[in-house]
Amino acid sequence: MLEFFDCDKSYMLSLFYILKNVINILRIVVPIILIIMAMFDFFRIVSGNGEIDARVKKKLMGRVLSAVMVFLVPTLSNAVLGIVNVGDLSASACFTNATKENIALYKEQEEEAERKEKEARVSEIKAKEQAAYEAGRKVEYAKNAAKESNPDGGGVLIIAGHSYSGECNLSGDCRGTFAGSGYAEEEETRSLALSLKEALLSEGVNAVIANQILVGDTNSTKMDASFYGATKGRSHYASAFKELEKEGYWKSFDHAIEIHFNASQSHTAYGTMVMTSIGKESLATEMDRQILAAVSDYTGYNRGVLAYSNGGLRDFEYFHGINVPITYIEVEFYDNKSAMDKYKKNQEKIAKAIAEVFKEKGY
Ligand SMILES: [Zn+2]
Repeated sequence: MLEFFDCDKSYMLSLFYILKNVINILRIVVPIILIIMAMFDFFRIVSGNGEIDARVKKKLMGRVLSAVMVFLVPTLSNAVLGIVNVGDLSASACFTNATKENIALYKEQEEEAERKEKEARVSEIKAKEQAAYEAGRKVEYAKNAAKESNPDGGGVLIIAGHSYSGECNLSGDCRGTFAGSGYAEEEETRSLALSLKEALLSEGVNAVIANQILVGDTNSTKMDASFYGATKGRSHYASAFKELEKEGYWKSFDHAIEIHFNASQSHTAYGTMVMTSIGKESLATEMDRQILAAVSDYTGYNRGVLAYSNGGLRDFEYFHGINVPITYIEVEFYDNKSAMDKYKKNQEKIAKAIAEVFKEKGY
């Protein structure tokens, strides 16, 4: 297809429309002029001295022939184009398309397209403004929640680990429900975080859940924010995390505890462990061991302290960096149904046992 002429554009069709009309006028006018001239020649011959000049005769015949040819040219050229089958030839298509109706139709379509494009631009700008507004509001909510929940600093910061939920696609390493057990890590970490907060508060220990602060709602049970994702800058709440960091909020706590639930290849492992980064085994404190022992009393197996790769324990590294002791605990294996069923029965007791360790340490 030759695209030299944009026959589906109204401006091009308008040009062809004018050209078509000019040709049509010339097609009538030129033969008429030629015929009139031929008639003059004829009268000259007739009214002359009777001697018909061969040259004049030839001229007369030529004019008549030209008149006929000019009149027929468009018809002939159309026939030729038709025979050699160049129906796609843009110029001829333009001639065919160049009608008042088509021009009006294309103009209407062009205006419609332009209007839609303008609308799309406007809604794109509005969406950007809305997103900026939402992001700003998230930061404000988080700041307010932080101010209300922990005005004097100190106390325990609870982090529901792997609490990604709506942020799965952002964090990339969200773990769903394990079909074999019916348990999901993110749900269990949130659930225990709530139990622990309540247990600590009832022991008179100040306690805040980081995920609630990030979402800006200290009553939220959804806690749909990934603390890990936020520290990595790939959470919806990354700006809220940053802003609170700037205000020194995260380092205002005496201790952080990050709750996780484990999984194993065999899906039969059970028990409790605390984790540190590789080379930081010594950072496992007496406090960690006491919490580990308190939880293991209920899960039935103390798996000790495990040093994990640095990248994998980024939150551990983060709190270590801001000088807040952190206990990173893998409470139970969420892919082991019988172990989890047992854990669920003892969830509140486990929360209370952890709270008591903090209480005894004078938090
Ligand atoms: Zn986890």
